[in-house]
Amino acid sequence: MDTATAAARPGYQKYAVDVHPSAIDGQGAFAAEAIPTRRKIGEIRGESISVAEARIRATRTERIMIVELSAKKAIDFSKSADPMRYTNHSCHPNARLCIRQGRVEFYALRDIAPGEEITVDYGETHHEGKLRCQCGAPGCRGAL
Ligand SMILES: [Zn+2]
Repeated sequence: MDTATAAARPGYQKYAVDVHPSAIDGQGAFAAEAIPTRRKIGEIRGESISVAEARIRATRTERIMIVELSAKKAIDFSKSADPMRYTNHSCHPNARLCIRQGRVEFYALRDIAPGEEITVDYGETHHEGKLRCQCGAPGCRGAL
């Protein structure tokens, strides 16, 4: 293991993940080591805000990084340094998002090989189906 990388990584980031340009959209989160199925990959931690504030911010920013935790609470990841915040959507993902106690956690849905892009199904988004999906997966819904 690269000790410099391990030292720079917070304890909740269980596996090494690199951020680099993605064929899906912008930057992506890529496995830097093998991740076995069902294991926790990492988390994103950010600024706790209200859903009302999240909706306002979503209208102002082109690239939104907000997850709604409940009807009232949301987290804005725009200022987060966690690599998992770059996780792109896929209609046929290899990971899933799990919201637990105010944290957004990522778990592998299958074995993920080093160099593979980590993707999750975003489900409903602020884009309300207006953003074209570019995941390229078989059975792609075509919109977010
Ligand atoms: Zn898709």
